Amino acid sequence: ALFERIEASDETIGSFLFVNKEEGLKRAEELDRLQAEDRMDGALFGIPMGIKDNICTKDILTTCASRMLEDFNPVYDATVMDKLNEENPVMMGKQNMDEFAMGGSTENSYFKPARNPWDTKAVPGGSSGGSAAAVAAGYVPFSLGSDTGGSVRQPSAFCGVVGMKPTYGRVSRYGLVAFASSLDQIGPITRNVRDNAKILEIISGSHGKDSTSMPGVEAEFLEGIDRDLSGMKIALPKEFIGEGIDDEVSASVRRSAEIFESLGATVEEVSIPHTKYGVSAYYLIASSEASANLARFDGIRYGYKAEGAQTLEEHYKKTRSEGFGSEVKRRILLGTFVLSAGHYDQHYIRAQKLRSLLEGEMKQLFSEYDLIIGPTTPTAAYDIGEKSDDSLQMYKDDILTVPANLTGMPALSIPSGLSRDGRPIGLQLIGNHFDEKKIYNAAFKFE
Ligand code: GLN
Repeated sequence: ALFERIEASDETIGSFLFVNKEEGLKRAEELDRLQAEDRMDGALFGIPMGIKDNICTKDILTTCASRMLEDFNPVYDATVMDKLNEENPVMMGKQNMDEFAMGGSTENSYFKPARNPWDTKAVPGGSSGGSAAAVAAGYVPFSLGSDTGGSVRQPSAFCGVVGMKPTYGRVSRYGLVAFASSLDQIGPITRNVRDNAKILEIISGSHGKDSTSMPGVEAEFLEGIDRDLSGMKIALPKEFIGEGIDDEVSASVRRSAEIFESLGATVEEVSIPHTKYGVSAYYLIASSEASANLARFDGIRYGYKAEGAQTLEEHYKKTRSEGFGSEVKRRILLGTFVLSAGHYDQHYIRAQKLRSLLEGEMKQLFSEYDLIIGPTTPTAAYDIGEKSDDSLQMYKDDILTVPANLTGMPALSIPSGLSRDGRPIGLQLIGNHFDEKKIYNAAFKFE
Protein backbone atom coordinates (compact mmCIF):
# COMPACT_ATOMS: atom_id res chain seq x y z
CA ALA A 1 0.00 0.00 0.00
CA LEU A 2 2.84 2.40 0.81
CA PHE A 3 4.61 1.72 -2.46
CA GLU A 4 1.32 2.57 -4.20
CA ARG A 5 1.01 5.75 -2.16
CA ILE A 6 4.54 6.74 -3.14
CA GLU A 7 3.80 6.05 -6.80
CA ALA A 8 0.60 8.09 -6.59
CA SER A 9 2.07 11.29 -5.17
CA ASP A 10 5.85 11.31 -4.81
CA GLU A 11 6.23 12.61 -8.31
CA THR A 12 5.02 15.90 -6.81
CA ILE A 13 6.70 15.68 -3.39
CA GLY A 14 10.05 14.37 -4.68
CA SER A 15 11.05 12.79 -1.37
CA PHE A 16 12.61 9.63 -2.84
CA LEU A 17 15.60 9.42 -5.15
CA PHE A 18 15.33 5.65 -5.32
CA VAL A 19 12.29 3.52 -4.47
CA ASN A 20 13.33 0.01 -3.42
CA LYS A 21 10.13 -1.58 -4.67
CA GLU A 22 11.31 -4.93 -6.00
CA GLU A 23 13.60 -5.84 -3.10
CA GLY A 24 11.31 -4.20 -0.55
CA LEU A 25 8.28 -6.26 -1.59
CA LYS A 26 10.38 -9.42 -1.58
CA ARG A 27 11.54 -8.64 1.94
CA ALA A 28 7.97 -7.92 3.06
CA GLU A 29 6.84 -11.29 1.71
CA GLU A 30 9.67 -13.05 3.54
CA LEU A 31 8.63 -11.34 6.75
CA ASP A 32 4.99 -12.36 6.12
CA ARG A 33 6.16 -15.97 5.95
CA LEU A 34 8.07 -15.60 9.22
CA GLN A 35 5.01 -14.04 10.81
CA ALA A 36 2.87 -16.99 9.66
CA GLU A 37 5.35 -19.26 11.45
CA ASP A 38 5.09 -17.00 14.52
CA ARG A 39 8.73 -15.93 14.22
CA MET A 40 8.37 -12.18 14.51
CA ASP A 41 11.84 -11.26 15.75
CA GLY A 42 13.07 -7.71 15.95
CA ALA A 43 11.77 -4.44 17.33
CA LEU A 44 11.04 -3.14 13.79
CA PHE A 45 9.56 -6.32 12.35
CA GLY A 46 7.95 -5.33 9.04
CA ILE A 47 8.15 -1.58 9.73
CA PRO A 48 8.88 0.43 6.56
CA MET A 49 11.76 2.91 6.63
CA GLY A 50 13.44 5.52 4.45
CA ILE A 51 17.11 6.46 4.56
CA LYS A 52 18.83 9.71 3.56
CA ASP A 53 20.92 9.18 0.47
CA ASN A 54 24.23 10.00 2.15
CA ILE A 55 24.06 6.89 4.37
CA CYS A 56 25.75 3.88 2.78
CA THR A 57 23.44 1.00 1.97
CA LYS A 58 25.10 -2.14 0.62
CA ASP A 59 24.28 -2.71 -3.07
CA ILE A 60 21.72 0.09 -2.97
CA LEU A 61 22.52 3.33 -4.79
CA THR A 62 23.89 6.04 -2.47
CA THR A 63 24.22 9.26 -4.46
CA CYS A 64 24.38 12.12 -1.90
CA ALA A 65 22.09 13.78 -4.49
CA SER A 66 25.22 14.52 -6.51
CA ARG A 67 26.29 13.85 -10.06
CA MET A 68 29.60 12.84 -8.48
CA LEU A 69 28.04 9.68 -6.98
CA GLU A 70 25.25 9.13 -9.51
CA ASP A 71 26.23 5.45 -9.99
CA PHE A 72 27.74 4.68 -6.58
CA ASN A 73 26.69 1.36 -5.04
CA PRO A 74 28.44 0.93 -1.66
CA VAL A 75 30.02 -2.43 -0.92
CA TYR A 76 29.15 -2.16 2.77
CA ASP A 77 26.37 -0.98 5.09
CA ALA A 78 26.76 1.95 7.48
CA THR A 79 26.80 0.92 11.15
CA VAL A 80 23.31 2.42 11.60
CA MET A 81 22.06 0.19 8.76
CA ASP A 82 23.53 -2.92 10.42
CA LYS A 83 21.78 -1.97 13.63
CA LEU A 84 18.43 -1.28 11.95
CA ASN A 85 18.57 -4.39 9.77
CA GLU A 86 19.01 -6.61 12.83
CA GLU A 87 15.47 -5.52 13.81
CA ASN A 88 13.87 -6.65 10.51
CA PRO A 89 12.44 -3.45 8.99
CA VAL A 90 11.52 -3.07 5.31
CA MET A 91 13.74 -0.72 3.32
CA MET A 92 11.52 1.53 1.17
CA GLY A 93 14.24 3.56 -0.50
CA LYS A 94 16.73 6.38 -0.42
CA GLN A 95 15.75 9.94 0.25
CA ASN A 96 16.31 13.23 -1.50
CA MET A 97 18.62 15.82 0.06
CA ASP A 98 20.76 18.84 -0.69
CA GLU A 99 23.90 17.75 -2.53
CA PHE A 100 26.40 16.36 0.02
CA ALA A 101 24.05 17.67 2.76
CA MET A 102 24.96 21.27 1.98
CA GLY A 103 21.89 23.45 2.14
CA GLY A 104 18.64 24.08 3.95
CA SER A 105 15.88 23.58 1.40
CA THR A 106 16.61 20.47 -0.71
CA GLU A 107 16.75 22.79 -3.72
CA ASN A 108 20.45 21.88 -4.10
CA SER A 109 19.73 18.28 -5.11
CA TYR A 110 21.34 17.46 -8.46
CA PHE A 111 18.32 15.33 -9.42
CA LYS A 112 15.21 17.31 -8.42
CA PRO A 113 13.97 19.58 -5.61
CA ALA A 114 11.70 18.12 -2.93
CA ARG A 115 8.48 19.80 -1.82
CA ASN A 116 6.70 20.27 1.48
CA PRO A 117 3.67 17.95 1.84
CA TRP A 118 1.83 20.63 3.88
CA ASP A 119 1.97 23.05 0.95
CA THR A 120 3.73 22.02 -2.24
CA LYS A 121 4.68 25.65 -2.99
CA ALA A 122 6.92 25.53 0.09
CA VAL A 123 10.34 23.98 0.59
CA PRO A 124 10.49 20.96 2.93
CA GLY A 125 13.70 22.35 4.47
CA GLY A 126 17.04 20.62 4.25
CA SER A 127 19.36 19.12 3.87
CA SER A 128 17.35 16.04 4.97
CA GLY A 129 14.27 17.44 3.20
CA GLY A 130 13.35 14.16 1.50
CA SER A 131 13.47 12.28 4.81
CA ALA A 132 11.22 14.78 6.61
CA ALA A 133 8.81 15.12 3.66
CA ALA A 134 8.45 11.33 3.37
CA VAL A 135 7.51 11.01 7.05
CA ALA A 136 5.10 13.98 6.81
CA ALA A 137 3.50 12.56 3.63
CA GLY A 138 2.87 9.24 5.35
CA TYR A 139 5.17 7.23 3.06
CA VAL A 140 7.25 5.91 5.96
CA PRO A 141 6.79 6.02 9.75
CA PHE A 142 10.43 6.82 10.19
CA SER A 143 13.48 7.90 8.29
CA LEU A 144 17.09 8.65 9.06
CA GLY A 145 18.64 12.03 8.30
CA SER A 146 22.00 13.61 9.04
CA ASP A 147 22.55 16.84 10.92
CA THR A 148 25.73 18.90 10.58
CA GLY A 149 24.21 22.31 11.25
CA GLY A 150 20.49 21.57 11.56
CA SER A 151 19.68 19.24 8.70
CA VAL A 152 17.53 16.86 10.74
CA ARG A 153 15.84 19.47 12.94
CA GLN A 154 15.13 22.23 10.41
CA PRO A 155 13.31 20.04 7.83
CA SER A 156 11.48 18.33 10.72
CA ALA A 157 10.28 21.77 11.88
CA PHE A 158 9.23 22.77 8.34
CA CYS A 159 7.36 19.48 7.78
CA GLY A 160 5.69 19.23 11.21
CA VAL A 161 7.48 16.06 12.33
CA VAL A 162 9.89 15.08 15.12
CA GLY A 163 13.66 15.14 14.48
CA MET A 164 16.61 14.47 16.79
CA LYS A 165 20.26 15.47 16.47
CA PRO A 166 21.90 13.20 19.07
CA THR A 167 24.93 14.03 21.20
CA TYR A 168 28.10 13.98 19.08
CA GLY A 169 29.44 10.45 19.44
CA ARG A 170 26.11 8.83 20.41
CA VAL A 171 25.63 7.36 16.93
CA SER A 172 28.40 5.92 14.76
CA ARG A 173 29.24 7.91 11.64
CA TYR A 174 30.77 4.87 9.94
CA GLY A 175 29.18 4.74 6.49
CA LEU A 176 27.81 8.28 6.61
CA VAL A 177 29.41 10.18 3.71
CA ALA A 178 31.41 12.81 5.59
CA PHE A 179 30.55 16.49 5.29
CA ALA A 180 32.09 18.05 8.43
CA SER A 181 33.36 15.24 10.62
CA SER A 182 33.44 17.14 13.92
CA LEU A 183 29.80 18.20 13.53
CA ASP A 184 28.01 15.38 11.64
CA GLN A 185 25.53 13.11 13.43
CA ILE A 186 22.88 10.76 12.06
CA GLY A 187 19.44 11.21 13.64
CA PRO A 188 15.88 9.83 13.40
CA ILE A 189 12.87 11.63 11.91
CA THR A 190 9.47 10.32 13.07
CA ARG A 191 5.83 11.29 13.52
CA ASN A 192 5.96 11.27 17.31
CA VAL A 193 8.36 11.44 20.24
CA ARG A 194 8.06 7.83 21.35
CA ASP A 195 8.97 6.45 17.92
CA ASN A 196 11.90 8.83 17.79
CA ALA A 197 13.24 7.63 21.15
CA LYS A 198 12.85 4.01 20.02
CA ILE A 199 14.76 4.52 16.76
CA LEU A 200 17.56 6.36 18.56
CA GLU A 201 17.82 3.48 21.04
CA ILE A 202 18.31 1.12 18.12
CA ILE A 203 20.89 3.14 16.18
CA SER A 204 22.92 4.28 19.22
CA GLY A 205 26.33 2.87 19.98
CA SER A 206 29.44 1.96 18.10
CA HIS A 207 30.80 -1.12 16.39
CA GLY A 208 34.28 0.26 16.85
CA LYS A 209 34.64 1.55 13.30
CA ASP A 210 34.19 5.24 14.20
CA SER A 211 36.78 6.34 16.73
CA THR A 212 34.70 9.40 17.67
CA SER A 213 31.65 7.39 18.73
CA MET A 214 31.12 6.22 22.28
CA PRO A 215 30.58 2.54 22.98
CA GLY A 216 28.52 1.45 25.96
CA VAL A 217 26.66 4.68 26.74
CA GLU A 218 23.26 4.14 28.33
CA ALA A 219 20.53 4.49 25.70
CA GLU A 220 17.20 3.58 27.31
CA PHE A 221 15.07 6.53 26.40
CA LEU A 222 11.63 4.94 26.66
CA GLU A 223 11.97 3.93 30.27
CA GLY A 224 10.36 6.78 32.27
CA ILE A 225 9.51 8.80 29.15
CA ASP A 226 6.16 9.78 30.73
CA ARG A 227 7.68 10.95 34.00
CA ASP A 228 6.15 14.04 35.59
CA LEU A 229 7.96 17.31 34.78
CA SER A 230 7.59 18.94 38.18
CA GLY A 231 10.92 20.32 39.35
CA MET A 232 12.36 20.47 35.85
CA LYS A 233 14.21 23.73 35.18
CA ILE A 234 14.09 25.10 31.65
CA ALA A 235 16.10 28.01 30.24
CA LEU A 236 14.84 30.24 27.41
CA PRO A 237 17.71 32.31 25.96
CA LYS A 238 16.58 35.79 24.95
CA GLU A 239 18.77 35.61 21.83
CA PHE A 240 16.59 32.72 20.59
CA ILE A 241 13.43 34.84 20.50
CA GLY A 242 14.93 38.25 19.71
CA GLU A 243 15.95 40.10 16.58
CA GLY A 244 15.66 38.24 13.31
CA ILE A 245 13.12 35.75 14.65
CA ASP A 246 9.59 35.99 13.21
CA ASP A 247 6.99 37.31 15.68
CA GLU A 248 4.73 34.32 15.22
CA VAL A 249 7.64 31.98 15.89
CA SER A 250 8.60 33.79 19.12
CA ALA A 251 4.94 33.83 20.15
CA SER A 252 4.73 30.10 19.59
CA VAL A 253 7.79 29.53 21.80
CA ARG A 254 6.30 31.66 24.56
CA ARG A 255 3.10 29.63 24.40
CA SER A 256 5.18 26.46 24.58
CA ALA A 257 6.96 27.82 27.66
CA GLU A 258 3.56 28.29 29.30
CA ILE A 259 2.66 24.70 28.47
CA PHE A 260 5.84 23.50 30.18
CA GLU A 261 4.94 25.59 33.22
CA SER A 262 1.47 24.10 33.31
CA LEU A 263 3.17 20.68 33.29
CA GLY A 264 5.10 21.58 36.44
CA ALA A 265 8.41 22.83 35.02
CA THR A 266 9.82 26.30 35.60
CA VAL A 267 10.97 28.41 32.65
CA GLU A 268 13.38 31.32 33.06
CA GLU A 269 14.78 33.75 30.52
CA VAL A 270 18.59 33.56 30.24
CA SER A 271 21.28 34.73 27.84
CA ILE A 272 23.79 32.98 25.55
CA PRO A 273 25.73 36.05 24.35
CA HIS A 274 27.86 34.23 21.76
CA THR A 275 24.80 32.94 19.88
CA LYS A 276 25.29 35.72 17.33
CA TYR A 277 28.67 34.37 16.23
CA GLY A 278 27.50 30.79 15.84
CA VAL A 279 26.70 30.97 12.13
CA SER A 280 30.07 32.52 11.25
CA ALA A 281 31.98 29.96 13.28
CA TYR A 282 29.91 27.13 11.84
CA TYR A 283 30.38 28.07 8.17
CA LEU A 284 34.14 28.49 8.61
CA ILE A 285 34.57 25.16 10.40
CA ALA A 286 32.06 23.16 8.34
CA SER A 287 33.50 24.42 5.04
CA SER A 288 37.08 23.77 6.16
CA GLU A 289 36.28 20.18 7.06
CA ALA A 290 34.21 19.74 3.89
CA SER A 291 37.09 20.92 1.69
CA ALA A 292 39.28 18.19 3.19
CA ASN A 293 36.60 15.46 3.16
CA LEU A 294 35.56 16.10 -0.43
CA ALA A 295 39.15 15.88 -1.71
CA ARG A 296 38.54 12.13 -2.12
CA PHE A 297 36.27 12.74 -5.12
CA ASP A 298 39.06 12.94 -7.66
CA GLY A 299 37.69 10.89 -10.56
CA ILE A 300 40.15 8.07 -9.93
CA ARG A 301 39.07 5.89 -7.06
CA TYR A 302 35.29 5.97 -7.42
CA GLY A 303 32.45 8.21 -8.49
CA TYR A 304 32.12 10.39 -11.55
CA LYS A 305 35.03 10.38 -14.01
CA ALA A 306 35.29 13.11 -16.63
CA GLU A 307 36.15 12.08 -20.20
CA GLY A 308 38.90 13.38 -22.40
CA ALA A 309 41.43 14.95 -20.03
CA GLN A 310 45.04 14.90 -21.25
CA THR A 311 46.87 15.24 -17.92
CA LEU A 312 46.23 14.12 -14.35
CA GLU A 313 45.66 17.67 -13.17
CA GLU A 314 43.23 18.31 -16.00
CA HIS A 315 41.41 15.09 -15.08
CA TYR A 316 40.94 16.27 -11.47
CA LYS A 317 39.78 19.67 -12.62
CA LYS A 318 37.32 18.40 -15.22
CA THR A 319 35.91 15.74 -12.90
CA ARG A 320 35.36 18.12 -10.01
CA SER A 321 34.05 20.95 -12.22
CA GLU A 322 31.50 18.67 -13.85
CA GLY A 323 30.70 16.44 -10.86
CA PHE A 324 29.98 19.02 -8.13
CA GLY A 325 27.15 21.55 -8.05
CA SER A 326 27.65 25.23 -7.31
CA GLU A 327 26.89 25.19 -3.57
CA VAL A 328 29.38 22.36 -3.03
CA LYS A 329 32.03 24.29 -4.98
CA ARG A 330 31.32 27.41 -2.92
CA ARG A 331 31.95 25.47 0.30
CA ILE A 332 35.16 23.88 -1.00
CA LEU A 333 36.49 27.28 -2.08
CA LEU A 334 35.58 28.87 1.23
CA GLY A 335 37.14 25.97 3.15
CA THR A 336 40.43 25.94 1.27
CA PHE A 337 40.63 29.74 1.63
CA VAL A 338 40.05 29.57 5.40
CA LEU A 339 42.69 26.87 5.80
CA SER A 340 45.32 28.59 3.70
CA ALA A 341 48.43 30.16 5.22
CA GLY A 342 47.77 33.70 6.38
CA HIS A 343 44.04 33.14 6.86
CA TYR A 344 44.19 30.10 9.11
CA ASP A 345 44.91 31.99 12.35
CA GLN A 346 42.57 34.80 11.52
CA HIS A 347 39.57 32.67 10.58
CA TYR A 348 39.90 28.99 11.44
CA ILE A 349 41.51 29.40 14.87
CA ARG A 350 39.12 32.18 15.82
CA ALA A 351 36.17 30.06 14.80
CA GLN A 352 37.45 27.27 17.04
CA LYS A 353 37.79 29.73 19.93
CA LEU A 354 34.21 30.85 19.42
CA ARG A 355 33.16 27.24 19.49
CA SER A 356 34.78 26.84 22.94
CA LEU A 357 33.23 30.04 24.25
CA LEU A 358 29.78 28.94 23.13
CA GLU A 359 30.25 25.54 24.73
CA GLY A 360 31.34 27.21 27.98
CA GLU A 361 28.26 29.42 28.05
CA MET A 362 25.92 26.51 27.40
CA LYS A 363 27.68 24.18 29.88
CA GLN A 364 27.31 26.92 32.48
CA LEU A 365 23.55 27.01 31.86
CA PHE A 366 23.35 23.25 32.24
CA SER A 367 24.88 23.48 35.70
CA GLU A 368 21.65 25.21 36.67
CA TYR A 369 19.01 24.12 34.14
CA ASP A 370 17.87 20.77 32.76
CA LEU A 371 17.04 21.94 29.25
CA ILE A 372 17.28 24.93 26.94
CA ILE A 373 14.30 25.69 24.70
CA GLY A 374 13.79 27.96 21.72
CA PRO A 375 12.52 27.87 18.16
CA THR A 376 14.12 25.47 15.67
CA THR A 377 14.07 28.04 12.87
CA PRO A 378 13.57 31.83 12.61
CA THR A 379 10.57 31.39 10.26
CA ALA A 380 8.20 28.70 9.07
CA ALA A 381 8.85 27.12 5.64
CA TYR A 382 9.25 29.62 2.80
CA ASP A 383 8.36 29.26 -0.88
CA ILE A 384 10.48 27.30 -3.32
CA GLY A 385 12.79 29.71 -5.14
CA GLU A 386 12.41 32.46 -2.52
CA LYS A 387 15.94 32.13 -1.14
CA SER A 388 17.69 29.91 -3.66
CA ASP A 389 19.79 32.80 -5.04
CA ASP A 390 20.72 34.11 -1.60
CA SER A 391 23.15 31.72 0.09
CA LEU A 392 23.99 34.20 2.85
CA GLN A 393 20.36 34.53 3.92
CA MET A 394 20.07 30.75 3.99
CA TYR A 395 23.24 30.55 6.12
CA LYS A 396 21.87 33.11 8.57
CA ASP A 397 18.71 31.06 9.01
CA ASP A 398 20.83 28.38 10.71
CA ILE A 399 21.44 30.57 13.77
CA LEU A 400 19.23 28.47 16.06
CA THR A 401 20.40 25.01 15.04
CA VAL A 402 24.20 25.35 14.77
CA PRO A 403 24.87 25.83 18.52
CA ALA A 404 24.00 22.19 19.22
CA ASN A 405 26.42 20.98 16.51
CA LEU A 406 29.25 23.31 17.53
CA THR A 407 28.96 22.16 21.14
CA GLY A 408 28.12 18.51 20.40
CA MET A 409 24.93 18.74 22.43
CA PRO A 410 21.72 16.80 21.66
CA ALA A 411 18.71 18.73 20.32
CA LEU A 412 15.21 17.76 19.25
CA SER A 413 12.65 19.57 17.11
CA ILE A 414 8.96 18.94 17.78
CA PRO A 415 5.89 20.54 16.21
CA SER A 416 4.53 23.45 18.26
CA GLY A 417 1.83 25.01 16.10
CA LEU A 418 1.12 26.52 12.70
CA SER A 419 1.93 29.84 11.11
CA ARG A 420 -0.74 32.18 9.72
CA ASP A 421 -0.26 30.46 6.37
CA GLY A 422 -0.86 27.06 7.93
CA ARG A 423 2.78 25.95 7.81
CA PRO A 424 4.31 24.09 10.78
CA ILE A 425 6.48 25.76 13.42
CA GLY A 426 9.07 23.75 15.36
CA LEU A 427 10.11 23.97 19.01
CA GLN A 428 13.67 23.00 19.83
CA LEU A 429 14.78 21.34 23.06
CA ILE A 430 18.53 21.27 23.70
CA GLY A 431 20.11 19.12 26.41
CA ASN A 432 23.50 18.67 28.00
CA HIS A 433 25.80 16.00 26.49
CA PHE A 434 24.18 12.55 26.63
CA ASP A 435 21.00 13.97 28.20
CA GLU A 436 18.70 12.76 25.40
CA LYS A 437 16.53 11.04 27.99
CA LYS A 438 15.53 14.34 29.58
CA ILE A 439 14.76 15.83 26.18
CA TYR A 440 12.51 12.92 25.23
CA ASN A 441 10.76 13.02 28.60
CA ALA A 442 9.95 16.75 28.28
CA ALA A 443 8.97 16.44 24.61
CA PHE A 444 6.72 13.45 25.29
CA LYS A 445 4.78 15.33 27.98
CA PHE A 446 4.60 18.44 25.77
CA GLU A 447 3.30 16.47 22.78
N1 GLN B 1 22.13 24.32 6.39
C1 GLN B 1 23.39 23.92 6.91
C2 GLN B 1 24.43 23.89 5.82
O1 GLN B 1 24.07 24.13 4.72
C3 GLN B 1 23.27 22.59 7.61
C4 GLN B 1 23.50 21.43 6.76
C5 GLN B 1 23.47 20.12 7.49
O2 GLN B 1 23.18 20.04 8.69
N2 GLN B 1 23.86 19.07 6.81
O3 GLN B 1 25.58 23.64 6.05
